[in-house]
Amino acid sequence: MSGRVPPPPVPATPLDASIDEACADLGLEGLARELDRAPRFPRETFRTLGERGLLGLSVPNDRGGRGLPLVDVGAALYRLARTSGATVFGKLALQPEFCSVLAEQGPPALVAEFYRPLCRGSTLVGNQLTEPGAGSDTRAMATEARRDGEEYRLTGTKSEAAFAVEAEAAIVYARVPAHPRGPGGITAFLVPQRGPGIERAAVADMGERWMRRGTVRYRDVAVPATYRLGEEGQGFDYVLPELHRERALLALIYLGVARRTLEETVEHVGQREAFGGPLSRQEAVAFPLTEDWAEGDAATLYALEVLRRRQEGVAADGEAAMAKWMATEIALRTIDHAIQFHGGRGYSQALPFEQRWRDVRSGRLAHGPSELMHLAARRVLWAGAGRPGSS
Ligand SMILES: Cc1cc2nc3c(=O)[nH]c(=O)nc-3n(C[C@H](O)[C@H](O)[C@H](O)COP(=O)(O)OP(=O)(O)OC[C@H]3O[C@@H](n4cnc5c(N)ncnc54)[C@H](O)[C@@H]3O)c2cc1C
Repeated sequence: MSGRVPPPPVPATPLDASIDEACADLGLEGLARELDRAPRFPRETFRTLGERGLLGLSVPNDRGGRGLPLVDVGAALYRLARTSGATVFGKLALQPEFCSVLAEQGPPALVAEFYRPLCRGSTLVGNQLTEPGAGSDTRAMATEARRDGEEYRLTGTKSEAAFAVEAEAAIVYARVPAHPRGPGGITAFLVPQRGPGIERAAVADMGERWMRRGTVRYRDVAVPATYRLGEEGQGFDYVLPELHRERALLALIYLGVARRTLEETVEHVGQREAFGGPLSRQEAVAFPLTEDWAEGDAATLYALEVLRRRQEGVAADGEAAMAKWMATEIALRTIDHAIQFHGGRGYSQALPFEQRWRDVRSGRLAHGPSELMHLAARRVLWAGAGRPGSS
């Protein structure tokens, strides 16, 4: 009894042919596996994706991106993740979006030097918010940027950052001491990563190892005042909308990987014989997979709907947070079922599922832990009413 998973509920996009070609020509599926075994940032592939117009999909054309509507971007990321069976390429495609503070607040010279090349895949820019003492509660950050004539002197430590040892530049958030403590004092800077006073170290990650995450120490690093992004004290106001925007897009990457995994598992249990018939005949096997299909498609439709609302100018921040946490949970469960129903081989590195699980597991932490996603969603549920716990 062989199953057939109906096509996923995502619209066609103008990028579909380019995505399929890139996956085939560049061997993206195999590359994702290689990047896990021997972690490195895939610089050549990043550049090639840029040449093929697969980076910065929602970034306006006049800033060097593709200028696609958000629903198309979400559908394209889903396709990229489903076809390659991996999170890496969708996340590379999104890196210009992750750096929109530079595009929106940076002086034209910095945008030309760093942002446009980022959209072409010829330079890499990271984001550094998290610190050893301030992660979920980023407002508690301690890194300081003291104004000194025409420059700032930057001192502090950033941690957990993607591309810590790879990026040419990073958007660094630091407190300008003249301002009050709290979000009002936080300012964004673009900081080239190879100057004096900068020390970088990678951590050994459980998944998404190609990101080369790590820690960056700044000791009295000179940052020209012209490298400040926007106004002093406004850094948080700039970055928060960006974080909200990205969550529904990330959800579609995780759901694309889940869908690919489900399709492979349904095929496997339709063929694998045990106890006189295919495994798919066992309800204990078929029901969980049916749930994975139903919940995966429902979460996909939901994430696309959040993007549609955002496209129409509705913030939908709490809903985007819900989309990310639900997608992560559904994807992890789907991959776990794949490990289980592929039996002993499912648990081995011969099959891609254990890597997919480790990669998608980052979704419970990166771009805000799932608990903070619940807090954002709670604000929607209790808008205008008494909050739980308040009198
Ligand atoms: C793959 C990956 C990539 C990342 N990339 C970057 C990056 O590029 N730049 C960057 O700045 N950071 C990055 N991060 C860091 C990430 O944003 C932080 O790890 C995350 O915000 C949590 O901060 P923390 O690690 O300090 O955990 P903590 O703040 O110490 O929190 C630990 C845990 O406590 C719980 N918790 C915290 N607050 C609450 C609350 N209010 N209610 C309930 N539970 C709570 C959550 O379970 C949380 O995971 C990345 C992380 C990962 C895993």
